Amino acid sequence: MQNQLFIDGRFVPALKGGTLEVLSPHDGSLITRIAAAEAEDVDLAVAAAKRAFPAWAALSGAERGRLLLKLADSIEAHAEELAQLESLDTGHPLRDSRSLDVPRTAACFRYFGGIADKIEGSVIPVETGFLNYVQRKPIGVVGQIVPWNFPLMFTSWKMGPALAAGNTVVIKPSEITPLSTLRIAELMKDVGFPDGVVNVVPGYGHTAGQRLAEHEDVGKIAFTGSTATGRRIVEASQGNLKRVQLELGGKGANIVFEDADLDAAVNGAAWAIFHNQGQACIAGARLMLHERIADEFLERFVGLARSIRLGDPMDPDTEMGPLTSAQHRDRVLAYVDIARAQGGRVLTGGKAPSDPALAGGCYIEPTVVEAQPHHRVAQEEVFGPFVTVLRFSSDEEALAIANGTQYGLGSGLWTRDLQRAHRMAAGIQAGMCWINCYKRVSPGSPFGGVGQSGYGREMGFEAIHDYTEARSVWVNVDAKIPPHFKR
Ligand code: NAD
Repeated sequence: MQNQLFIDGRFVPALKGGTLEVLSPHDGSLITRIAAAEAEDVDLAVAAAKRAFPAWAALSGAERGRLLLKLADSIEAHAEELAQLESLDTGHPLRDSRSLDVPRTAACFRYFGGIADKIEGSVIPVETGFLNYVQRKPIGVVGQIVPWNFPLMFTSWKMGPALAAGNTVVIKPSEITPLSTLRIAELMKDVGFPDGVVNVVPGYGHTAGQRLAEHEDVGKIAFTGSTATGRRIVEASQGNLKRVQLELGGKGANIVFEDADLDAAVNGAAWAIFHNQGQACIAGARLMLHERIADEFLERFVGLARSIRLGDPMDPDTEMGPLTSAQHRDRVLAYVDIARAQGGRVLTGGKAPSDPALAGGCYIEPTVVEAQPHHRVAQEEVFGPFVTVLRFSSDEEALAIANGTQYGLGSGLWTRDLQRAHRMAAGIQAGMCWINCYKRVSPGSPFGGVGQSGYGREMGFEAIHDYTEARSVWVNVDAKIPPHFKR
């Protein structure tokens, strides 16, 4: 298990010798101690990325793509090891790490490996006698700061497009879950990425993260995390007016209409909130039910929630694991009291499981709370296995409730009515909308939010645009330009 910083192609200790404790979410035991980057380590990493940039940007897209494709192969060759590492560090059930996190990580690097030699410019029709062409140029050194909920997958979402486009990277994983990012760095070294092209600096947000966000040699900062931290990133970025991309919080509205296929909707709504213990920015955290089917739906949904197999993430039969940290578990549990204080009704869960085998871990039972749209649990991101149920009686009311938070990231609709589905999808203010499904992602499809869920897009060609600058070149091919100053 790698436990040092990765700077300029080498694993090194932190300059001041500080360390972070990586704890098991299953039982609180110490997994390992790793080096904690501080400002001076980030400076070294940025300097290495800056040195590496000209040669990396000068490679052909096909050469950069080849390395990304080799990395995707290497991830697949190490799939079981990576799945176990991710589950150990984050608490993701092993069956999900195996079937989702690892394959999606490989697929994303492969997609951007394939795109690297297809980053085309354009020729713009301008005045006669001139040729104007536009190229997409890399930005330079890119800083990337990621949270703890999907650390492995986010290495590919962040690094894939940045590297394909010819940027070099300094990435700061969360202080809580740094292990899989360090392992990916090792695999990158093994497949031949040049020194300095990727640097990994695990550390705290207020030290390492802050320095990366304010660094004058960083041309862009790409951040995934909470909306509150996103605001700090914007402030820190102002010194050199670097570009900023923000993937922030969400409060996904998952709307079930009276004509929905209830079997599919019950299962889909449970997946939308309970996958990864609800620790997903796109989680279907507000389950909105048409009043005509609400009671029947809830009976089935609560029954399903109670039957979810909670347990050790390393057990392949486990369907829901622990939350990723004790601090976060306490924060989620506090929302149960907040809900009750405002008149919310806890229909199931709301507490740690009684199983003594899980007593030392960060576990919470799947929790279903019925509330009102103005309640805090219907407005604030809980980020746990905690779904807030809201009832509605018309399409207009559904839309008003769905759009009634500061966020706009994921959303879902369950209906058999094609016209209603498209009408509602057009009206929901969110970066993504799923119809009769939820939480589908693909490396080709743009991912990001509106409102206080952030700006910029990951994945697809949108991401390549976000990691490049358009450069316009004018050529006088055959124009007779009369002198402006006649002498
Ligand atoms: P967080 O904002 O606390 O931390 C995210 C990252 O930012 C961590 O690496 C942290 O060390 C760093 N950080 C903290 N303070 C910083 C500072 N002052 N300067 C620079 N970096 C700093 O978020 P979290 O609790 O780790 O993650 C959960 C949040 O992430 C949720 O709000 C969730 O919705 C959001 N999220 C968003 C998306 C998306 O794509 N929109 C995806 C996943 C998670």
